Amino acid sequence: MRALGVHEDVIVLSSRMWRTSATLVRNGEEAFLIDSPVFPDELELLPALAEQARFPVCGLLATHGDWDHLLGRLAFPGTALGVAETTAARLRAHPGDAQRELRDFDERHYLERPAPLALGSVDALPVPGRCEIGDAELELHAADGHTIDGMAVWIGWAGVLVCGDYLSPVEIPTVERSIDAYLATLARLEPLVAAATHVVPGHGGPIDSASAAQLLAQDRAYLEGLRGGGAQLPAGRRDAEQRRLHAANVAVVEGHP
Ligand SMILES: [Zn+2]
Repeated sequence: MRALGVHEDVIVLSSRMWRTSATLVRNGEEAFLIDSPVFPDELELLPALAEQARFPVCGLLATHGDWDHLLGRLAFPGTALGVAETTAARLRAHPGDAQRELRDFDERHYLERPAPLALGSVDALPVPGRCEIGDAELELHAADGHTIDGMAVWIGWAGVLVCGDYLSPVEIPTVERSIDAYLATLARLEPLVAAATHVVPGHGGPIDSASAAQLLAQDRAYLEGLRGGGAQLPAGRRDAEQRRLHAANVAVVEGHP
């Protein structure tokens, strides 16, 4: 796991699995963990790492309900987990999905974890909205389209945008909900990207504002192509795995998920 300080109050961790991002954000005496790393040893290391850096974690946030972003409680058991209302509804509608997918992943890779994942109660946060931390606030922006749920977190005083599974330098857009919703989210993210010093995508971050703006333009072009039936994979994201994700997008668009 890689750890990178992008601001005195923001540390971005990058998991060895899928380069999944987890972000520690602090204001005064409070710190939150946004999303999570994936491997057991990475989660085990997190509390000591946060303590050493003087980030007293008292809350967890998840950008969306995909299981690989929901593992914060394995590192900080019993800590409150805040998610967008849309994510809370998704977790309620499909109880046990995240745990089941985590178990499948662990079995496939022969991984053992000290405890099962407890997602029993989560706090549903109004989005768009604000979430207090220390003497400041995090801004929450709707970010659906990749999935049916989700939010992006704007850390205003640090100029950092934690955007969930959008604007990834390593993964093409994956559309589980709708191209229109995805494009609407990109339009909402655009001014935040322009105002940011760093952007933390769900996989492969952090990146600077200019790179994120370039990815946003590429992703928009890809999605418009996908809608028109003539999508070109963006340069740098054309390997076998990205072509597989592209085929899945095509299947969704054609109504054969
Ligand atoms: Zn993800």
